[in-house]
Amino acid sequence: MATGIMGGTFDPIHVAHLMIAEEALREFDLDRVVFMPSAQPPHKQVQEVTPIEHRLEMVRLAVAGEPRMGVSDLEARSPAPSYTIETIRRLRVELGEDETIYFIMGADSLTQFFTWKDPEDLLTSCEFVVVPRPGVAIEGADDRIRNKAHILDSPMLDISSSDIRERVRRGELIDHLVPPEVSAYISEKKLYS
Ligand code: NAP
Repeated sequence: MATGIMGGTFDPIHVAHLMIAEEALREFDLDRVVFMPSAQPPHKQVQEVTPIEHRLEMVRLAVAGEPRMGVSDLEARSPAPSYTIETIRRLRVELGEDETIYFIMGADSLTQFFTWKDPEDLLTSCEFVVVPRPGVAIEGADDRIRNKAHILDSPMLDISSSDIRERVRRGELIDHLVPPEVSAYISEKKLYS
């Protein structure tokens, strides 16, 4: 079996995340993609992040109709901060040594990779899929991760969670950027306003 893990803050999840998951399923012949919202992203300890319960629920709503997509609360249940190497080690125990794990991350993360916890161990712990992003140069990343990572061959969509949060703050519509159930949840819980 081959499983893709979409790590991220998902504050909130949006249509580009879903499109990336769809492309990864197809391009790498994955059996499933699991979204793994970080409880406390390691690089964001001083920044305000929406409580994990809301971010998890929005991901659940977004993938509810997608049979090959799921969501894991593994990082939500683990002690903060959410280090990727610890997540992969736990997944190895859960899924077994024969499972091929693809960690899917944004190009922004690629350039930061060697500042993460135990990067050398992480490098050999699973496969990596990197999603190109407008304005982010993959060439700047360390050769060790750049040479190993698979680059997702998807069109670059310039959609970001921070832009969505800003639009909600300004009272603008976000219906074309997130699934309808997520938009309704954001309104109901008065997130980002
Ligand atoms: P993030 O803010 O969620 O995302 C960084 C950038 O990548 C954003 O522009 C984001 O767009 C985009 N993005 C998010 N998830 C993506 C995905 N799965 N595929 C493609 N693009 C994605 O990122 P983060 O919180 O810094 O961390 C990303 C992942 O790396 C998490 O799993 C985190 O735990 C891990 N990480 C680990 C360490 C460590 O182990 N020390 C350190 C840092 C990060 P949007 O804003 O639109 O989502």
